[in-house]
Amino acid sequence: MELKVMRSGFNYSQNGTGNRMVYHLQGCDMLCPWCSNPEGLAPGGSLLVHQTTLKDDVCPGGHIIEGKLDRVDCTDCSTRECVTIHKNSGLSFSCTTIDVSDIIAEADENRGLFFDGGGVTLSGGEPTMQFDAVKELLQGLREIGIHTAIETNANNPRLPELFPFIKLLIIDFKHDDDEIHTSTTGVSNQTIKANVKAALSSHPNVLIRTPLIASFNADARTIQRFVAFFQECGTATARFELLKYHEYGRQKWDLCGLDYTMAKGYISDSLFRSLENIYKKAGLTVIRS
Ligand code: SF4
Repeated sequence: MELKVMRSGFNYSQNGTGNRMVYHLQGCDMLCPWCSNPEGLAPGGSLLVHQTTLKDDVCPGGHIIEGKLDRVDCTDCSTRECVTIHKNSGLSFSCTTIDVSDIIAEADENRGLFFDGGGVTLSGGEPTMQFDAVKELLQGLREIGIHTAIETNANNPRLPELFPFIKLLIIDFKHDDDEIHTSTTGVSNQTIKANVKAALSSHPNVLIRTPLIASFNADARTIQRFVAFFQECGTATARFELLKYHEYGRQKWDLCGLDYTMAKGYISDSLFRSLENIYKKAGLTVIRS
């Protein structure tokens, strides 16, 4: 099976333990306005425009007109000559297709670099969008003894099927209120909550991450509701991490032809600490990676 991979590279400790090869997979089923990898949203990949004026003749279909890309008409292009033939066109495509067996072979070759408990992490986009290939990959990596981690939004009802092949399960949990979750990300949180519950009750190594975003979830009442939900599910073996809102990916929204609509997401250090303290006082194991 094949996977659409946005990018890959080594990263120490941010996407799991130790030194890890992190594969960012293409496609996501949510549309979070703070996303730092907007080029990973479209399941089929995104065309990024890096120049204000393009050359019209790099598109044989005529979809670059007077230096501007017509994104509506170019979405179904199968040849993508503007990037495959014209390497310096000022355009780039967000992903490549890689066979699962090649990723397993690469991991095997890099085995010596997975020090301090490292291994392979699947991130996104949303890895479970390519469920069957991801399952094959995780299974194959475990068969050769490679440590596996996945960073997921937990919105796939089949997620528990992957539990036996995941050594570290990182779930991005954004909001406990279904209405707010739906209006902000475009999807309900019901499946996510069911998967969090399943993970906390049956997976031995879960990390639940929450991005703290002003006027979305960064207030004491919301965080107290998170805690109540986690405690209901059981928190004995899980770890929790709060992350401060950032705008590292903001520029890429523009490159992908998308509007960045987040207005005021930043929170202060003192608010961050006070919300983190709510977790700590409730007895949750809190980490900062
Ligand atoms: S992706 Fe295809 S249609 Fe779109 S600009 Fe490139 S060559 Fe033209």
